[in-house]
Amino acid sequence: MDTVGVTCARCGRFIQRGDPVWHIHLTLTADTADGWHGYDANTPEDVDTQLNALLQRIDLIPQDMLENQVFQAFHCVVCRTCRDILAANPWQRPWEQDA
Ligand SMILES: [Zn+2]
Repeated sequence: MDTVGVTCARCGRFIQRGDPVWHIHLTLTADTADGWHGYDANTPEDVDTQLNALLQRIDLIPQDMLENQVFQAFHCVVCRTCRDILAANPWQRPWEQDA
């Protein structure tokens, strides 16, 4: 019996080779609530001033922390049961109860 397979990232169940799995790709990218145009600038000087202020703040943040704050990517596989659970409630919010 071939025991090569993968482990479900959510429940830890071993998934045999050849059994179905579902891939989860998650990326976190930094932005502002208004998008990249959220910086308020009426003149090119405003842009320069804000850009310099941003660069000064960036200089204070360690490189690895800065990279994680700007971009992170995750990939994993889950089993059928966990796929169903995640698809029904991706953000795992508590179900709202009727009043
Ligand atoms: Zn699972």
